Formats: sequence, C-alpha cells, structure tokens
Amino acid sequence: MSTAEKHHFQAEIQQLLNIVIHSLYTDKEIFIRELISNAADAVEKLRFYQTSGQTIYQQDQPLTISITTDDKENTITFADTGIGMTHGELVENLGTIAHSGSRAFLKQLAEDKKPDAKLIGQFGVGFYSAFMAGKKVAVYSRSYLPDEKGWVWSSEGSGGYEIEPGEDLNRGSKVVVHLKDDNKEFAEQSKVEHIIKRYSNFVPFPIELNGKKINTVQAIWARSKNEIKDEEYNEFYQYIGHDQQPPLYRLHFTADAPLSIQALLFVPARSFETLGMARTESEVNLYCRRILIQAKAKGLFPEWLRFLKGVVDSEDLPLNISRETMQDTSLMQKLNKVLTGRFIKFLDEKAEKDPESYEKFVTEYGRFLKEGVVTDFTHRDALGKLLRYESSTLPKGQKTSLTDYVKRMASEQKEIYFVTAPHREAAESSPYYEVFQAKKYEVLFLYDPWDEFVMEHLHEFDKKPLRPAEKADATLDQIDAKAGELSQDESQSLVKWLKETLGDRVAAVRVSKRLVESPAVIVDADQFMTGSMRRILKSMGQEGDTASAAKQDLEFNPQHLMIVRLERMRHADAPLAAKVAEQILDNAKVAAGLLEDPRTMLKRLNELLEQVLLAKS
Ligand code: ADP
Repeated sequence: MSTAEKHHFQAEIQQLLNIVIHSLYTDKEIFIRELISNAADAVEKLRFYQTSGQTIYQQDQPLTISITTDDKENTITFADTGIGMTHGELVENLGTIAHSGSRAFLKQLAEDKKPDAKLIGQFGVGFYSAFMAGKKVAVYSRSYLPDEKGWVWSSEGSGGYEIEPGEDLNRGSKVVVHLKDDNKEFAEQSKVEHIIKRYSNFVPFPIELNGKKINTVQAIWARSKNEIKDEEYNEFYQYIGHDQQPPLYRLHFTADAPLSIQALLFVPARSFETLGMARTESEVNLYCRRILIQAKAKGLFPEWLRFLKGVVDSEDLPLNISRETMQDTSLMQKLNKVLTGRFIKFLDEKAEKDPESYEKFVTEYGRFLKEGVVTDFTHRDALGKLLRYESSTLPKGQKTSLTDYVKRMASEQKEIYFVTAPHREAAESSPYYEVFQAKKYEVLFLYDPWDEFVMEHLHEFDKKPLRPAEKADATLDQIDAKAGELSQDESQSLVKWLKETLGDRVAAVRVSKRLVESPAVIVDADQFMTGSMRRILKSMGQEGDTASAAKQDLEFNPQHLMIVRLERMRHADAPLAAKVAEQILDNAKVAAGLLEDPRTMLKRLNELLEQVLLAKS
C-alpha cells in the first residue's frame, strides 16, 4: 500500500507553472542554472548555520553540488549537501506561494493576460523551470535539523504533488528531473557540461558532473582587492577575455548605493576594432551572485565602451529574469549609469596619475571616446576632458588636454582654436594657422577627419567655444605696411577683377586680414561649414563637386609678392594673369584639402611653367 500523501497545488501555483513552462524563459536550458542556484543557496545557508554554531545533521559532510546525467533513464539529477527541507518546508516552498506580491502579480495577469516582465523577475519561480524540460520531478530531501527525517516530493507539474517518507537520505536535497522525450539532450554529459560552464562556472562551491569537477575558475571579482595578486587578475582576464596579452587597464570596484555592484572590468592592450577588424562587441557578462544572467550583456554600458571586457555582478538583479526583458528594465539603466560614471572617473584618475599609460589608452581607444562625444549626450562634457590633441605650443608627439589648453589661454583669448590637417607639418603650414602664430595663440592640431565633427558636437569646453581656425574671426592686430604692397584702390580693383575672372568658381573675393606667408586662402561661405566638414560630407556622397565650388570665398594677401605682381600683370597680359588667378585659387584649395582631383589643374600648371621657362631662356 502506498504511503504517499496527495496534495493539490495551490491554484496560483498551477497558473504560475503554466507561465513558467510556456512563456517565462526563452531557453529551456535555463532550468539547469536555476536548480544549481537553488542548490548553491541551500549550501550557502548551511555554511551560515555551521559558522553560527548550530547542531547540524551529518556535520562532516562536505559542501558540494553534484550533478549526474543518465542517458538511459533520461534523467538529470541535482544533489546538494545543503540545508534540505522538512515536510513542512516542502509543502510551503514547493507547493504554495507565500509572497503576497506574487499573488497581486497573478491577479493582474488574470485580468489583462499580459505577463509583466518586470514583475515576473521579482519573485522566485526558479524551481518550476524544471518542468520545462521534465515530465516528472522528484525531490529527495533531508533537513539539516537533527530530529527531522527524509521526504520525497514528486510531481508531474499539473494538478498536484505527492509526498512520502524517504529512507536513508543524506543531508540536503536531490532533485531528479525525468526528461520529456524531446528534451533528452539534457541527459547528455557534454551538453550539460557546456551549460554549467556557461552559467554556473563561478558558483563558490565545487560542482561535479558525473564525478568530474566542472567549475575551476574562481569568481575573483567577489573577493577583496588587496588579497588578489596581479597574476590572478591576468589569469582571470585571459580566461574571460580570450586574450594572451595582459590588459592595459583593470578596474575592480564595489558599490553599495544606489545599487549593490561588484565589477571587474578590463581594457585589452590592443583594440581589435582600431586594428581594422570587425566592430567589437561588448564582452562584459552580467551576473547575480556569481550566476550568469546575461553573457555579453547588452545595454550594460553605452556603445562607445564596447571595448570593455569583464564581469558585473549585482545582487539586486532578479535571477530568473528572462533575457529579452533584461534590456529595458530600469534596473539596467541604473546599472549603466553607475558603471559608466565610475569608468569615466577611473579614466580621469589614470590620465592624471599615470599619463604615460593614459597616452597609450588614448592612442588605442581615442576613437571610442570621440564616438562617445558624438553619441552620448549624458557624458559629453566628461568625455571632452578625456580627449588629447597635439598643439602648436607643444613639441610634436606630445598631447594636451582641453583643460590644460584653457589654463594656458591668453587673457584676452575667448575661444579654443583648432586646425584640422592630415599631419603636423600640414597643420603648421596651413594658411589658417598663420594669424594665430602671429598672435601667439595656441592652436590644437587635429589629425583625424572626424575630429571636426567631434568638436562640433562638443561645441564648447569650460564655457569657451571651440572654433575651427578657418572660421575664427581673428585678424592680425596690426599689419605693418610693407614696401610695394597693394594700395587700397589697387586691392579693390583686384577684388573686382578676380571675381569677374573666377566667376562661379568662388562665392566672393576679399582682402584678407589674417595672412602672413600665404598669397591666398579660401574660406567657406557657409558660416557653419568648414573644409574638413565638406570633405566628410563628400566622402559620404552628400556633396556634389559643382555645388561646393561656389560656396567658397577667396581671400588674398595684398602684401604678398605674387599678388602684387598679379595686379601688375593683369594690365600687361590679361590671359596669363587669368591663368595665374585660377592657379592661385586651386592652390588655396589644395591647402584646404579640398581639391578633388589635382589632374584637372596639371594642364594649366604645365602651361604656366612653359611660360616661366620661355621668359627666362
Ligand atoms: P527561489 O529560489 O527564488 O526562492 P524557487 O522556486 O527556485 O524560488 O524555490 C523555492 C524555495 O524552495 C526556495 O526559496 C527554497 O527555500 C526552497 N528550495 C528550492 N530548492 C532547494 C534545495 N535544493 N535545497 C533547499 N531548499 C530548496
């Protein structure tokens, strides 16, 4: 005669089971993670009782979690030596819902039939996930309390469950999942090993699978910083980062408010994306008490921090949240805010205390910071502080922060100036730089075509507008008269003639007040447009040749010998003067980096050379 007592599931439990089985989790394999987590909790609780000196049944039994698969019987079994459950606890924990919050949730569910993902995540339903893959689940349990006995709880997941006495049970629980016919893969050792490694590799108790220890790597992020050696960190990094080189940076920190967080983040020595490889994908995994919630967690950091690798562990995360819903919980946004802020602070500290390594960081990851300036409004100003550029007052190769630039600014200087050029030599010989050199104003040299874009988004720094040199309305303080320079009248008639001669190729012609060395310069007629911006637009196919041609103004230097002679020559040999004028315009475009195809001017240049040689021979 059977001694089994039959129980009905509480009505809510039955509803809950249906949700868990049919819609809560995206991957069935999650049930392995959930049952291991329950086992780990039970073992953890036992350890707590041990340390608080309680009398414990089978006191010397080591704390372990062992999993066995049986592909003949099609079962997977999770055994732990934790606290176990009494008869009352089996009924209470596995057959009723204690939380009133869960009831409210179910009520809401019954009303509008839409599972609210946020709510689902807030209460424990992990155990029931066993029924996603199992047609029958049996729990053999023996409480740690010396006077208790063993019990066997079993259910097929609908209707109810049975409880009967269990003979000769060891302390702890053993959950046997009899797999459904189409879930037999969970009785395969290799498959299960893979799943355990993925989700439960850092559980702080040994996990054995069919007698073999599976979790070998320690969750070092949960340990205290000062007891971890560099080698341990590097080993851990190698393990999670799949990178043989030690990382450039690591940040290990804990926070309690507003969220409890333990994080261990690494910056790889090289950026594979900068090396020209495919776009990097964030490799920061999200854990809750050392159990994986989401690998390569999306939304944990802003996109521009996608080069980070590591681990974020937060106790505040509901363990059984399903994957898709993770992204849009407000919790994720909170985590993102705290983590990003902390990492930026870390970079600030590095930049200040260890400029040498920070220099390396900027070389490797500057692009990402710039992307952040453009895409991440929240952190824009903080990121502005982290940028580094060469500058006219520093030797080649040395970089400055905007903060230091501002400190060096002349008292009457109101704006931060920059020149965009392919390299230092080009920046220094840029006609746009001349006026600043004469005035002794510092100018930042930007070598990345996107820098101008970045500056535009940053807009200002420390309340000082960021201004492209070519857009600055800086003029030479005083222009000393030079022998032979054009008179005002001559200049004005040259202005008129040049406009007539160059026609539509320029928007306007005027006398420059900023040139020292160069004969002429072009300035964009559109007050928001610059040469490098046009180049970018062009490279994106947004700007036609002819359209941009008429948008530039030509400014000339009335003291320059070439200009002076041009004015004389146009009376003597108008056709030759016209050719020279066109060449001057093209030269100015070359200086601005805007001449599309130099071949178009070669014919003219050759004709001019021919005439020079003719005159001299
Ligand atoms: P949660 O773990 O989130 O509370 P579960 O549905 O997974 O929700 O489990 C319900 C309860 O059953 C647990 O809180 C715990 O008290 C008990 N329990 C589950 N598995 C075990 C186990 N292996 N050993 C002891 N108690 C367990």
